[in-house]
Amino acid sequence: MQKQIEQTTIELIQGDITKAEVDAVVNAANEKLIGGGGVDGAIRRAGGDAVTKACDVIRAQQGGCPTGKAVITTGGNLPAQYIIHTVGPVWHGGNSGEAALLASCYRESLQLAVENDVKSIAFPSISTGVYGYPTEKAATEALQTIRDLVVSGVTVPTNIQFVLFDDATYSCYADSLTNL
Ligand code: ADP
Repeated sequence: MQKQIEQTTIELIQGDITKAEVDAVVNAANEKLIGGGGVDGAIRRAGGDAVTKACDVIRAQQGGCPTGKAVITTGGNLPAQYIIHTVGPVWHGGNSGEAALLASCYRESLQLAVENDVKSIAFPSISTGVYGYPTEKAATEALQTIRDLVVSGVTVPTNIQFVLFDDATYSCYADSLTNL
């Protein structure tokens, strides 16, 4: 399904983000930018050595990437030209600033995208795997953050996709997008 908000289309797709035909895919990374499991493992496997090397350079320069921030690398062997690595919050019950940090992941990723002339971008469901963020809450936070940017006149890519791996995650995002 998809929804148009001003000049931006938000599109929900069920599938594998490593196959996304977009300018940039977003990775749910960790603070050390060291390969993990989940979507990070899948993106690094498909992207190849160039991605790991680029992450190693960033780690050497700045120690990694703090939670709520984002860094950009080559997409390596992916169809996407770039990977934007953002670090979602670990869920600690909801009173530890998780929502603000998750919103920051989306804002920082979209800002980096625009700075690199990215017109189409694909996000996974950041933080809802190993990091334990409840998917319904994460979906609403993600979509509301993007909606708020667009309506406040911030430039974002015109095509924003969420590529969601499983049925349950897809249906949470579909419910949130319907109610947006
Ligand atoms: P986090 O550590 O931020 O919680 P995970 O990688 O554990 O990140 O999970 C985030 C989401 O990514 C989960 O919904 C998981 O099912 C999904 N995921 C895993 N592999 C892929 C993939 N290849 N494409 C898209 N989403 C994926």
